[in-house]
Amino acid sequence: MIHESALIEELTRLTQAQRAALKKLGLSSVRDILYHFPSRYESSAEVKRISAITHGEVVTLYGQFTTLEMKKSWKTKVPMAEGSFSDGEHTLRVVWFHQPYLAKMIPVETLVRLRGTVSVSKDNKKYISNPVVEKAQGIPFMDNADGLLPVYPESAGVTSLWFYHAVKRALESGVLRTLKDPLPEKILKKYHLPSLTAALVWIHKPKKEKDAEAARKRFAFEEVFLIQIARAREREVKTREKSFEVDANRARVGAFVASFPFKPTRGQKHAIEDILEDFSHAHPMNRLLEGDVGSGKTAIAAASAYAVVTSRPHGQNFGNLQTAYMVPTEILAKQHFNTFTSFFKDHPIQIGLITGSGCYKYPSKVNPNDATPISRTQLLKWVANGEIPIVIGTHALIQKTCSFKHLAYVIIDEQHRFGTLQRHAIAIKGGATPHLLSMTATPIPRTLALTLYGDLDLTILDELPKGRKPITTEIVPPAKRHIIYDKIRTLIREGRQAYVICPRIDEPDPKKALALQVRSVASELRLLKGKVFPELRVEKLHSKMTPKDKEETMAAFTRGEVDILVSTSVVEVGVNVPNATAIMIEGAERFGLAQLHQLRGRVMRSEHQPYCFLMVERNTENARLKAISTAKNGFELAEKDLAIRGAGELYGKHQWGLSDIGMEALKNIKLVEAAREEALLLVKGDPELSGVPLLRTLSEKKASALHFE
Ligand code: ADP
Ligand code: MG
Repeated sequence: MIHESALIEELTRLTQAQRAALKKLGLSSVRDILYHFPSRYESSAEVKRISAITHGEVVTLYGQFTTLEMKKSWKTKVPMAEGSFSDGEHTLRVVWFHQPYLAKMIPVETLVRLRGTVSVSKDNKKYISNPVVEKAQGIPFMDNADGLLPVYPESAGVTSLWFYHAVKRALESGVLRTLKDPLPEKILKKYHLPSLTAALVWIHKPKKEKDAEAARKRFAFEEVFLIQIARAREREVKTREKSFEVDANRARVGAFVASFPFKPTRGQKHAIEDILEDFSHAHPMNRLLEGDVGSGKTAIAAASAYAVVTSRPHGQNFGNLQTAYMVPTEILAKQHFNTFTSFFKDHPIQIGLITGSGCYKYPSKVNPNDATPISRTQLLKWVANGEIPIVIGTHALIQKTCSFKHLAYVIIDEQHRFGTLQRHAIAIKGGATPHLLSMTATPIPRTLALTLYGDLDLTILDELPKGRKPITTEIVPPAKRHIIYDKIRTLIREGRQAYVICPRIDEPDPKKALALQVRSVASELRLLKGKVFPELRVEKLHSKMTPKDKEETMAAFTRGEVDILVSTSVVEVGVNVPNATAIMIEGAERFGLAQLHQLRGRVMRSEHQPYCFLMVERNTENARLKAISTAKNGFELAEKDLAIRGAGELYGKHQWGLSDIGMEALKNIKLVEAAREEALLLVKGDPELSGVPLLRTLSEKKASALHFE
């Protein structure tokens, strides 16, 4: 009897190539093999061995060509491809008349799937002519004739067929008897999940679709449950940490919010309430605020920061608790600084701005309504001795030289732009653990947020301020470019402003640029200024400009002194110029889905009708662009993306260490919520998991394999 922890080598002999391939897939033990699940199933009725095919039958065959050549048919001289196809036991002649090029396109010794009708030649030999051919991802089972045929994900070196044999051996080795089911009996019963042994058999050798489904559901639950346990334990640890006491007086904060130039939305009020509620606990807040672009997160940051900085440090009747507000770009830091100074103008609260290119303090001694530039040394000194309660900045905030006296609250804007380490670095600046608010506009489905950020509390802001009009998003082929220019001209005449986003800053070789049709800020600026809009004020913005130039251009655009800003995606996150209502995105195919959504968020910030023009280089269908042009908001987009392809596109290729089944699970909110509830319950009753050591080990292993930035 083989144990689950036995090495794969003990099960079956491995070649060097197989060993390498298995390592690449992260598989080393027999247990790993058993947990390497089929990616799909085929109905066995259609798949045949060559030995079993009969004349006139339509069959599916798996195998490889041992030879394949271009020829002319013997008498008629019809050009053709002809080869010898092997399924490992027998060979069969396969011909494609009139398609000689196929001989060049199908490599020999590569696994392919053929589908066609069996013919018989004059000399009574079977052959197939003109079958459909495709590269096969794997060979399904061959001896499970009445069931479904699993097809395994494979990599160069280990084929689906190899997995089939390995799994078969494993199942026959008696290993199932050594396996302990990590899921408690009670949970299996409650959610009608099959036991581990049943599920393993069902997932690898299902007789019915339903069996495979039940097994997949069980493993999906198991994976999410393990992650949730790890998150619940992290959360548990945090509740034991001490934090700062913040005076969360609702009336005081309410009065501050009432001084904003707008009425808060219901969602904003909820979010502020969530945060104030957290402040009243003895342990640090750890909250993720997920609000679509333009939903007004900055105001929430300001209101909650107000509660903190008007609170006294413990045991003192003077001084202020401090707030650090970290943002990913200088442009954004400056913008938030301006917003905060206007929100705090009637309050005796000093605000500092620290970025790589300069520091400011508000209010200035000379002019109490204005900010003043100060030296970094001076600013750092005032932050360190607690005189400046609010500090807004970029990564500069996490540098060693920047220290605080009473850092009680950390706000991270556009948190997905920072790595885990950076987020951590800012949170440990003070003595006690500060309250932490992470904000993001990256649309992320609720299930994914609950899973990846299960240790955080979640506030979702899914409402935009009143009066916002739904954005019109248009995919524009090259021939219609002039129509868009006319539209933009009209909008600007009506008093609005526009962004033109280009994939790159400049193009060193102008001939090449034309050939590749890559539009750059430099070339577009020339074109728009010189030819298209000579009567308008067109300026550029990109990361290679000096900080001063960037700041001046941005300020001029904000004041409405620039009509069109030709920019790279530096304006992607957070930039807020409400009067800009149109955005033209050049080479839209080149941008990611999340990025496009962020970009179009730049023009959804006022009561004017917003427009987004996705300029495409070719006139072909693009599912991604289609999704974005039909989804009304980020959440809808995220759900759509998840439904289409398991969250792949929106978040890049990586899957955060989740398996395919785990990704599938994210489509099922009920399952994720159930797994989360059970995990919280379990950890509450037994924080160290001493009663369930297997769950502890597995959840720690799973959590350490996750990566999400
Ligand atoms: P985001 O959530 O994308 O960070 P911002 O905080 O930049 O959004 O806010 C976007 C715009 O909406 C800003 O111009 C802001 O002044 C405005 N705004 C925020 N809250 C409201 C509200 N309740 N009513 C009207 N406008 C609002
Ligand atoms: Mg923002």
